[in-house]
Amino acid sequence: MLTDYHLHLRPDETDAKASEYFTQANADRYLEAAADAGIGELGVSEHIHRFTESLEIWGHEFWRENAIDDMGAYVEFARSAGLRAGIEMDWVAGKEDRIANVLDRHDLDYVVGSVHFIRDMAVDHDAYDVWDEIADPDKVWELYFRTFAEGILMGLFDICAHPDLVKVWGGDRPKPRRDPRFHYEPLVEAIAETGIAVEVSTAGYRKPVAELYPADAFAEMCVDAGAVFALSSDAHEPENVGYGYERAVETMRGWGVSEIAVFEGRKRRMEPLG
Ligand SMILES: [Zn+2]
Ligand SMILES: [Zn+2]
Repeated sequence: MLTDYHLHLRPDETDAKASEYFTQANADRYLEAAADAGIGELGVSEHIHRFTESLEIWGHEFWRENAIDDMGAYVEFARSAGLRAGIEMDWVAGKEDRIANVLDRHDLDYVVGSVHFIRDMAVDHDAYDVWDEIADPDKVWELYFRTFAEGILMGLFDICAHPDLVKVWGGDRPKPRRDPRFHYEPLVEAIAETGIAVEVSTAGYRKPVAELYPADAFAEMCVDAGAVFALSSDAHEPENVGYGYERAVETMRGWGVSEIAVFEGRKRRMEPLG
């Protein structure tokens, strides 16, 4: 089995409208790409901040600019188009009740939980760059992994998305002086405690860091903790469906992983990898 659950039907730009991209013709381009890549399970996980309901959770300027679409219509569309229906939900500290409320309203197959923001600053968006505010890389990494761990422990998500996203800029930002494993620890502990699936995301190959999310050391700590894994591309266009999967599957086998997580109606089962 191969899956691609964490993907987007459109680019991240605000002007990429639902009416233009949430169409059967566009979904079919993704479904065809998945069939060509031997992907048996295809789902979408649009960013929560594209939907008006996200403003019940958080009022960040970036969210206010992007919260345009109706989440119920999106979920309904995904199902009718032959896609598993997911959402990429940001963890926003202290907002667990509001997040749960929004999630409870929708009939989802899975929830991909992410951290893109530390407080008001982003780890992967240069308009709100956390590195402008916090110069010490160990502080940035510590805050990122602690924030994510706190979110995972709320038990609201099914998949821990791009777990070490903080490395996205690669050599364009300073590296922590401490062994990264020190920073990984709280998140790996939260993963072990909740049993959430750890996302293997080939998006990292396409970013400045040019490597898989997560790093080998992070994955090995997860394997030691008994974690399970999910596989996705985080594609924003059909061309990237299943991007780099051959390399990713080989890497996963090297970690000793032989199964991947499959989701339906927020229930998980394990299938043989590949
Ligand atoms: Zn993301
Ligand atoms: Zn994404």
